[in-house]
Amino acid sequence: MMNRFLTLCLSPILLIAAASGIAQSAARSDGMAQLPRILNTCPANVPAASVAPFPKLHPNALQARVPIMMYHDILPAKKVAYDLTPNELRQHFEQLKSNQMTPISLAQLMAHLRTGSPLPKKSILLTFDDGYGGHYQYAYPLLKEYGYPAVFSIHTSSVGVNAGRTHVSWQELRTMANDPLVTIASHSKTHPVLTKLSHQQLVQEVADSKKILESRLARSVQYFTYPYGLYDARVKRAVANANYLAAIAYAVPTERFANQSPDLLSLARFEKSQLEKVMPQAWSGPSSAQCK
Ligand SMILES: [Zn+2]
Repeated sequence: MMNRFLTLCLSPILLIAAASGIAQSAARSDGMAQLPRILNTCPANVPAASVAPFPKLHPNALQARVPIMMYHDILPAKKVAYDLTPNELRQHFEQLKSNQMTPISLAQLMAHLRTGSPLPKKSILLTFDDGYGGHYQYAYPLLKEYGYPAVFSIHTSSVGVNAGRTHVSWQELRTMANDPLVTIASHSKTHPVLTKLSHQQLVQEVADSKKILESRLARSVQYFTYPYGLYDARVKRAVANANYLAAIAYAVPTERFANQSPDLLSLARFEKSQLEKVMPQAWSGPSSAQCK
């Protein structure tokens, strides 16, 4: 099952070149880039606004520098560089504390990005991908101990699967989802490279995973996290059509602050190894001073 893990979690490294290409192709194909060709064919039937733009960040949120950190498995004996031991995660939380960082919820960050509303000083968002058993066993108790909110991104076909690495069960996930500190995001059904899928497969991965999570957890799921961080304009459109409010991405080498994201459907992140580097740069913007 290590092979499976390598497939799920190390592919971003192997796909750096591909991701870069996809990002460029996304930039080229976003918005109206393809419209002139269509207009040349049939100008009368294609209104200029037929493709709605992806939701942008509020101008008042563009100056701030809020990091979104990406974590994977937490387990006592690390297997790959993406893993952290419970003690190392505690050290990260201690570093957040000693640097006066304020972990916030994704809802708080979204309010800031959509309306420019102020945030606590030195805000940061913690995210944990792939629904590992270590998230319930080690990360969740530590989050409660420190009072830190976090996002857990779940691909539904892995829930309760314990071959190789363990994954959270539906019961554990319900416990976490019922805690105000926790936000559950969809991470697709089977964790594929979404850009490679047919339209039907794409819709199933994006929309069905939302329905499954909402049904099993009895709550609304408003956010999506791209498997491997990979997306293009077509994938973003599918995510928007499934009524997600925002989507979390990840791309090497363009790790950057959430406020530097091109739109709400491609929120940028940093890998956890960048924590020490990003903390001194984190800033919640000019209106954050009065907001504790
Ligand atoms: Zn993942």
